[in-house]
Amino acid sequence: MQQSDVVIIGGGVIGSSAAYFLASQPGFQGSITVIEKDPTYNEAATPRSAGGIRQQYSTPENILISQFGAAFIKAAGDHLAVDGEAPDLQFHENGYLFLATEAGKTVLTANQQLQRQLGAATELLDPAQLQQKFPWLNTSDLAAGSFGPVNEGWLDPYSLLQAFRRKARSLGVNYIKDEVVGLDHSGRQVTGVKLHSGATISCGMVLTCAGIQAAHIAGLAGIDLPVRPRKRYIYVFDCRDKIARVPLTIDPNGVWFRPEGANFISGVSPAEDEDPDSTDFELDYRLYEDLIWPTLANRVPAFEAIKLVRAWAGHYDYNTMDQNVIIGRAPQIDNMIIASGFSGHGLQQSPAIGRALSELVTFGSYQTLDLSRLGYDRLLNGQLIQEANVV
Ligand SMILES: Cc1cc2nc3c(=O)[nH]c(=O)nc-3n(C[C@H](O)[C@H](O)[C@H](O)COP(=O)(O)OP(=O)(O)OC[C@H]3O[C@@H](n4cnc5c(N)ncnc54)[C@H](O)[C@@H]3O)c2cc1C
Repeated sequence: MQQSDVVIIGGGVIGSSAAYFLASQPGFQGSITVIEKDPTYNEAATPRSAGGIRQQYSTPENILISQFGAAFIKAAGDHLAVDGEAPDLQFHENGYLFLATEAGKTVLTANQQLQRQLGAATELLDPAQLQQKFPWLNTSDLAAGSFGPVNEGWLDPYSLLQAFRRKARSLGVNYIKDEVVGLDHSGRQVTGVKLHSGATISCGMVLTCAGIQAAHIAGLAGIDLPVRPRKRYIYVFDCRDKIARVPLTIDPNGVWFRPEGANFISGVSPAEDEDPDSTDFELDYRLYEDLIWPTLANRVPAFEAIKLVRAWAGHYDYNTMDQNVIIGRAPQIDNMIIASGFSGHGLQQSPAIGRALSELVTFGSYQTLDLSRLGYDRLLNGQLIQEANVV
């Protein structure tokens, strides 16, 4: 039987960030193994992400988590270089722009005030200011917009994942290509992780970072995790008329778009009653034709003549209870830590979540950013933390 002090299940951006931060913790001396069933990450959420990072949230922890994320990403060359070679994360600090009609203005204003209090640079703009700053925008039905010019934009998700992974390996983390199929447990302890190959790895601590498989893994230890796979589509389109200085823009109806190289990408989260659990990758062009394209054409006159280039699907690990991450010690099991339920914002959260997980393993408590409110207990005691700004 193999042995590892810490076993991380899932080597996506969350598992690999946790591995990197743990291996870098001066107080941690143990061995770390990451079990990843598919090192090509073909079906994982991370490479299918839109790569957005913003501070425009309604939950204080999410704002602070992304602030650390942005600072970390900007200094990635210092943190994640291996043999003097710095990763290129292609961070575009072009901002996020949330738009509101009269109906959404109060919430937008309250969120902006919270973000400012916590140090974000979010600006509240009236329609005339919006028009001046973004001349390509149709503001006729808008009451306000909030724009985050600092620490907001997008990066290349796959590059961040590979940078964490490469750095973690350079620090001695062992990556194993295999699938976790069972957990040995005795009383309140997981004692071993069983793999598809037939091997078992005995361990002191297990971190569950398995994306949409997290509920399945937690279930192997008898834990009920309210995290479900929800399919999201990204549509790539070409616009003949060139428009400049385009942030990641979110229409009042939830449709979003941003530049991607010479093209644009766009998407929308469906209404809750049209959002079944799904693990397939089948594309739905109706959503584009019926909702996304009309919204784009209305919001940006230049988008009336766009051409759909391609599309892809990926899956949110969706926390059905309050759309925020569930992080911390699992109920009933003392040596299992969960990080799941990111509901579409895990890429940007990966630096702060990886750091938080490394603190829980090393010290048994948070040392920097206190994420206790985001623990599993909130699901049991009804103190949900509903995030209003889920895109
Ligand atoms: C279309 C789309 C757009 C998004 N846009 C954004 C965005 O703009 N900004 C943002 O911050 N976030 C965004 N996200 C969310 C973000 O991509 C995820 O929150 C994040 O990638 C989650 O990382 P993860 O490591 O938890 O999951 P994953 O990347 O899915 O990694 C989990 C890994 O676990 C492995 N695994 C699972 N089960 C097992 C097992 N039994 N044994 C071994 N390995 C296993 C899988 O193979 C996988 O590689 C988006 C997601 C999608 C789908």
